[in-house]
Amino acid sequence: MATLPSASPSCRAHKFGGSSLADASCIRHVADLVLADDAERQIVITSAMQGTTDALVALAKTAASGGHWHEPLTRLRQRHLDTAQALLARPEAVLAQIDRHCDELAALLHAVALLRQPGQAALDRIHGMGEVLSTLLLHAHLRERGGDYALLDARDVLVIRQTDLGALVDWDASARLLADWRRAHPQRRVNITGFIARDPDGFPTTLGRNGSDYSAAIFASLFDADELHLWSDVDGVLSADPRIVPEAVPLPALSYCEACELAYFGAKVIHPQTLTPAIARNLPILMRNTFNPAFPGTRIDADGDHAGRGPVKGLTLCSQLALVCLEGTGLIGVPGTAERVFAALHAARISVVMISQGSSEHSICCVVRDADAQAACDALKDAFARELATAQVQGVTVQTGISVLAAVGDGMAGTPGVAARMFEALARARVNIRAIAQGASERNISVAIDSSAAARALRAVHAAFWLSPQTIALAVIGPGKVGSALLDQLQSAMPRLRERHAIDLRLRALASRNAAWLFEHDDACDWRARMQCPPSAADLDGLAAHLLDAHLPHAVIIDCSASDSVAQHYPAWLAAGIHVITPNKQAGAGPLARYQAIRTAQAKSGARFRYEATVGAGLPVISTLRDLLDTGDTLIAIEGILSGTLAWLFNSFDGQTPFSELVRQAHALGYTEPDPRDDLSGMDVARKLVILARECGLSLSLKDVEVENLVPEPLREADRNRFLAALDTLDAPMQARLDAARRQGCVLRYVARLTHDGQASVALRALPADHAFAHLRLTDNCVSFTTRRYCDNPLVVQGPGAGPEVTAAGVFSDLLRLAGSLGAAL
Ligand code: ADP
Ligand code: ASP
Ligand code: MG
Repeated sequence: MATLPSASPSCRAHKFGGSSLADASCIRHVADLVLADDAERQIVITSAMQGTTDALVALAKTAASGGHWHEPLTRLRQRHLDTAQALLARPEAVLAQIDRHCDELAALLHAVALLRQPGQAALDRIHGMGEVLSTLLLHAHLRERGGDYALLDARDVLVIRQTDLGALVDWDASARLLADWRRAHPQRRVNITGFIARDPDGFPTTLGRNGSDYSAAIFASLFDADELHLWSDVDGVLSADPRIVPEAVPLPALSYCEACELAYFGAKVIHPQTLTPAIARNLPILMRNTFNPAFPGTRIDADGDHAGRGPVKGLTLCSQLALVCLEGTGLIGVPGTAERVFAALHAARISVVMISQGSSEHSICCVVRDADAQAACDALKDAFARELATAQVQGVTVQTGISVLAAVGDGMAGTPGVAARMFEALARARVNIRAIAQGASERNISVAIDSSAAARALRAVHAAFWLSPQTIALAVIGPGKVGSALLDQLQSAMPRLRERHAIDLRLRALASRNAAWLFEHDDACDWRARMQCPPSAADLDGLAAHLLDAHLPHAVIIDCSASDSVAQHYPAWLAAGIHVITPNKQAGAGPLARYQAIRTAQAKSGARFRYEATVGAGLPVISTLRDLLDTGDTLIAIEGILSGTLAWLFNSFDGQTPFSELVRQAHALGYTEPDPRDDLSGMDVARKLVILARECGLSLSLKDVEVENLVPEPLREADRNRFLAALDTLDAPMQARLDAARRQGCVLRYVARLTHDGQASVALRALPADHAFAHLRLTDNCVSFTTRRYCDNPLVVQGPGAGPEVTAAGVFSDLLRLAGSLGAAL
């Protein structure tokens, strides 16, 4: 399968959409592209400059409703005049032509304003003016650069008839007119207006909105081109509308049938009728990006992409639809009901987008355009009047505000499980499915859903088919010491995790104490650079909503703050299915009612709450305890050195250096909290003990822990500087405690203790010199678990238990354990 254009075909057709023609520099770029093309013959079809057709449609409406159209017309005229000035070395002739066309437009609008009810012919003339102007500009520019291009106004040759099926080409008449035109214009290269045409009587008409793709396919056929390149502003046909699904990926190849289904169900990137002339001549279509011409884009041909990944190629969303249902017990098994429904709708000239009938035949639903909903309802009521009167049919209902989401792919035929995957994703995103249809070709599965859920549905289904099941949207709150270390660790590990373990981490939000940054993930963007940008005006609720908004398979909030108010959000986040990971002790040790609310929310939604780093930083303390309990062991007691700061102080305190001096050193080394009393008070250790106790199923709170506060009473309430100045008052009592311990051959350690009956205390204790806690180094933490199985010799977890790097690593391992439980092979 080749995605690159073939070498020097004899005729290439190029069509440039509005976005490729936004201003003079875009037009210059388009000229570069076509001038660089070495095809023997070439046709270039152009649509109007970006936004022009919308402006013309609005102008006609304004004029018809008696509004002020002069000013917007002046703006439109000026935009084209300015573009000509910027684009052309000798713009005079073109400026005069633009003025002439805009004068004609003014005359038409004047007539519309007078008539108030404009005919279609007048409207078509107005709507088509954008293509006349844009083609004129490109043509003049190409000529100035030495290109020998003829200029063809499609209204001179392209004859179409408007039918129920859209605009149909009169190929014979068009070919005849073109042959006449070619006699006077034999150039090898031609500029052609897209979108516009003539009707059989020679009056101007159009191919309908977005119709210049169709124009291009028609002219490619009339000029016998070998390839058609449709240039737009995206890298080809993407797996879904990139405006709704930022993760959408370009598709290398599509079959004509797949492209037809995508276009029919609303993929704006290609007009549905474009395919018909292409299929008839087996003409390959290449969807390319004007602004990324080196990218091959999407090739559409008869073969498509046999080697392509997955059964689903693309997803589309078609909106502004309505669901019309005919329901009745009298329909069961009655032959011909469906036929009568469609005959009635056909007679009312209503086109049916989708049909769904349950096998019980109790109801028949069809999806029609919103604008046709009432007419469809009336037509069915008419057709089934007799059955309604005799209650054989219970009613005809209409539900507006419906969208159809379609999954398309040739590979769906014969592949089981595609529908299941789609429905599971919709269920997880809490999208209610109103009706389902699968074509017999099995190339398309469509579901009708409420339009309010459409974007959510599209993202969720896209994630289910295109993303790794371990794709996780991440938010990190509190980029302080631990948060920063974690973000650095995440950033460097992300590519490896994605490649080796299919764990796809997507950082989507950051929040500090008073600001939040919400964004789309980008591997290339450093998190620190994100925080240099102005913050998004959002609170933590907005952050959670943004995290869920992408509908990635999973969402995780990592709270690296120490804030109680952040912990306050956990129950709601968990209830919404967001996993929470934190080194913040507030939730684990805070009010029992909130802790229980967290557990309840977790149990309901299945979201995980992990907090390994709240005790012993990166050490596996909580997971060890969990493993013991989950495997059926029974706890007898936990004893531990749970504060790195206090461990360091008492490991270093040998009577040579006064205790106050050691506190000062620890403070200077950054081992203590900014206010060392937060460590010396024992509260931090007590919190950790509460967390462990609750893990064991004990309903313990902070007030239940007996705490020995090492700060002398008079200094507890003093301001920080006064406390630091008065540190010496600690020296004499501490020295006395040390001397007393030594006399008994003991050492001093600040120890936390919990017994299975809920007795909890944290205190400075004299321990025998051969105790496990007597030989710790530096800031090491140590936790010993005495259990039924480990009763003679306790199970001990020991190692560095403080510092941003190891704490962040503890948080990170929680995240990986979570990914593992979601299916990642680690
Ligand atoms: P042009 O003016 O070049 O014809 P359009 O605006 O008509 O361009 O169509 C291109 C736009 O279609 C893209 O910018 C993109 O936003 C949108 N689009 C919607 N669905 C898709 C899809 N599946 N693949 C690519 N683009 C899509
Ligand atoms: N300019 C026309 C439109 O905006 C046709 C096209 O762009 O394809 O609908
Ligand atoms: Mg288009």
